[in-house]
Amino acid sequence: MDPIHIAALSSILGDDSRVLTQPQVVQRLSRDFYWYSPVLKKQLDGKVGEVVVQPLNSGEIVDILRYCHARDLPVTTRGAGTGNYGQAVPLHGGVVLDLARMDRIEAIQPNGVAVCEPGVRLGVLESEARKAGWELRCYPSTIVKASVGGFLAGGSGGVGSVAHGGLRDFGTVRAIEVITMEAEPRIVRHEGEAVHDILHAWGTNGVITRIWLALTPAVEWSQCVVAFDNFDAAFNFSESVATNEAWIKRLVTTFEWPIPSFFAPIKQCVREGKALIFFLIASAQLMELETAAVNANGAITYSGSYQGLRTVPLLSDYTWNHTTLWAIKSDPSYTYLQTGFNPDTVREQFLQLKQKFGNEILFHIEFMKNAEGRVIPGAIPLVHYVSEERLNEMIDFCRNIGVSVANPHVNNVEGGGRYRSDNAQLLAKQRYDPKGLLNPGKMITFHTEHAALEPAPTR
Ligand code: FAD
Repeated sequence: MDPIHIAALSSILGDDSRVLTQPQVVQRLSRDFYWYSPVLKKQLDGKVGEVVVQPLNSGEIVDILRYCHARDLPVTTRGAGTGNYGQAVPLHGGVVLDLARMDRIEAIQPNGVAVCEPGVRLGVLESEARKAGWELRCYPSTIVKASVGGFLAGGSGGVGSVAHGGLRDFGTVRAIEVITMEAEPRIVRHEGEAVHDILHAWGTNGVITRIWLALTPAVEWSQCVVAFDNFDAAFNFSESVATNEAWIKRLVTTFEWPIPSFFAPIKQCVREGKALIFFLIASAQLMELETAAVNANGAITYSGSYQGLRTVPLLSDYTWNHTTLWAIKSDPSYTYLQTGFNPDTVREQFLQLKQKFGNEILFHIEFMKNAEGRVIPGAIPLVHYVSEERLNEMIDFCRNIGVSVANPHVNNVEGGGRYRSDNAQLLAKQRYDPKGLLNPGKMITFHTEHAALEPAPTR
């Protein structure tokens, strides 16, 4: 990057130490966990920004964006860089806008809404919320590292989603403040339905600077692991708990063998050849759950109280996309898919997949509530990677038998499966980033010639 820009950015911040140019540092802060996908690894290895800037407040972001807009410099916003799809990897160099230092929790309001800056780590927010009698409705298994802003812009759900749905459901995100990429950047507040313009847009249509996130009353949780002789029995029991509103739960995860064999640090919970279920269940219901599990021919291999994120073992560290991480550690030829089974025909769908692909696909089920309030078997199955063709064959097969796939092997918002069919994110990009400078290349339906022509939808 032209040293003139570096000097100008330093002078905007009035602080050289927050403008980082050392190649190793810039490289590290240009990466995320895209390498989970052999397809993305090929595409994204070597893509880096040219400079990292670390603003402390919205005023500094306005000044940075004004400067970059005038000089056509791309800007890629970064939270903690734990995304899986190369979301935070700059495709066209430019500025990496690292928001880790904007990490202030402004309030945990008495009505259970947290107001915070984007760089707040989800784990910190969870701890602070619990002190006030609340907790996060849902969080990714990367809770300790991931930022609130990155979760809104790149995540979808996780632990808690079995009870509260995904991040985009049930008014969990109450409001978002974003800064636009225009000649004179504006600070705009999106509330209610309008939050969907910004959610899961990968930072392509504004920089999120303030968040109003609805919480839920805190529960005293316990962890429990149950082993079953086979996956069918485990699935049946986990489904019966997940779909019954009477159980107060935060996590219901089911693993086919040999997935549990990858969990080296928690061998004590694993039984050779058995399918496992991991539960986070209200402590008041732990004994009742254990009894029900034993009555269903399950064996309790672990149970204990949950004391927050420092609990050892922390079962959530093996769920959601952490499962994939343990598999890759054990055998680098594993990758994954993100799928949704049909709750009415799920067993038939399992059968069809096994008949066609055998152990090339291993079932890892994450139950979650959908937007209609029905708990469905979501899944992050492990896939033994053979080739891109074979992976695409599996994706096509899933879709043909009614299993939805949010493809984690593509590097654009539209291909990942969380793009809105009403084009809300694209329309916002046309209004807020008409030159296409925010995380360029990640929203492939955006073309500069259409920008700024679209009026804001009336809501
Ligand atoms: P980043 O990776 O830094 O950014 C994600 C995207 O958001 C990027 O496009 C970035 O440009 C954009 N962005 C970041 N901050 C802002 C901002 N302030 N304004 C505008 N755009 C912004 N995800 C889940 O949803 N559920 C899971 O359970 C889950 N489990 C995971 C497990 C593992 C082991 C890994 C590696 C990933 C997992 N993920 C999961 C993905 C990821 O951890 C989460 O989505 C996380 O919330 C991303 O937060 P981050 O701060 O790291 O965001």
